[in-house]
Amino acid sequence: MSTYVFAPWTIGPDRSDEDTTSPLRRIECTTCGEKSENGVEQVGPDMWAISHAVRTSHRGFREVVTALLRVVPAPGNPYHGKEDSDDLWEV
Ligand SMILES: [Zn+2]
Repeated sequence: MSTYVFAPWTIGPDRSDEDTTSPLRRIECTTCGEKSENGVEQVGPDMWAISHAVRTSHRGFREVVTALLRVVPAPGNPYHGKEDSDDLWEV
């Protein structure tokens, strides 16, 4: 007979690294597939899209936003507060 105990976990923005806290934005042209650079600022990808539209007459774009997430033990989980433990993920 096996017994399973479920502990609470939570998922949210990954704040483990200061450089990755802001979502990355990129804009893609839906006509030709050309892409802006990834950026954390709004203006860079937007300016790329406007410049691309002026240069090519392409008018359709897709915004791609990548936000890093992190799963951590929630309060009530025996690993809560021990997220940096090396043996946390060993089963
Ligand atoms: Zn294009």
